Amino acid sequence: MPPYAFFQKEYVPLPEAKIGIMTHAFHYGTACFEGIRGNWNPDDEQLYIFRGREHYKRLVNSCKLLKIELPYSIDELCQMTVDLVRKSEYKEDVYIRPLAYKSTEAFGVRLHDLDDDLLIIVTTFGPYLDVTKGIKCTTSSWRRIDDNMIPPRGKICGLYVNNAFAKTEAVEAGAAEGIMLTSDDYVSEGSGENIFIVNDSRLITPTVNDRILLGITRETVMQLAKDELGIETLERRVDRSELYMAEECFLTGTAAHITPVVAIDNRKIGTGNIGKITGDLQKLYFDVEFGRNRKYIQWCTPVY
Ligand code: PMP
Repeated sequence: MPPYAFFQKEYVPLPEAKIGIMTHAFHYGTACFEGIRGNWNPDDEQLYIFRGREHYKRLVNSCKLLKIELPYSIDELCQMTVDLVRKSEYKEDVYIRPLAYKSTEAFGVRLHDLDDDLLIIVTTFGPYLDVTKGIKCTTSSWRRIDDNMIPPRGKICGLYVNNAFAKTEAVEAGAAEGIMLTSDDYVSEGSGENIFIVNDSRLITPTVNDRILLGITRETVMQLAKDELGIETLERRVDRSELYMAEECFLTGTAAHITPVVAIDNRKIGTGNIGKITGDLQKLYFDVEFGRNRKYIQWCTPVY
């Protein structure tokens, strides 16, 4: 079976889902999206969609910013996603990309008087960053965009040019990811991940006001750390120099899972190896995400 996409209110083979070159979102970035993982569990012979509801709730919020009204409930969106993945017959790890966009083929910068459409794509997806050895990061010379410019708590397509600047700068400098600072110089987030440091057996992560996307992995990690390891998370502003002095550091994201950070700006973090708490959280998170930890199975929606 070819992979399918949900496009213009129906399921169509992916190669047939094409937008016109005058589509508003293509010109002005007037769209918002999500990234959801489906994780294949060979023991259960099951593909588990991880925290789909939370992703769709966030999509609905992003849509509010862009004045897009989705004609579907959260339950319907979750069910449509299950149907799409099942129809495509995937039995391996997948990445699901819902995207709501201004679909009118017209010029003119605005949000009003435009039609909307929702598309959902599913594709196979390998590792995004190196979760086994850890990665090197740089702090970006590109500042994180402010809430009153394009709100970073919305997953808005046009906003991701800011992230792309940071990512490419980092990769071209020999690192794997760029950490952006806010316009007033506090740590914000990576181009596709939230950031945590570990000090004195406690997690520390930038606050909701530090121009971050409120990550679903971030929230999952904070809950697992507290409930399973008895580790509290402090949400507070973080200075750049605190990154260099942290005992451990890791990034979180749907694509990135929990990615250990072993160096920032050519300074070793901790011992320069994956930290103990990072490693424990990683194992816990993978077990939960793949449906192996039954206590959290309500976060995993079976496809088959
Ligand atoms: N920040 C940014 C900028 C992102 O693109 C992502 C990925 N969606 C995240 C953080 C992590 O969010 P989540 O854990 O919900 O995937």
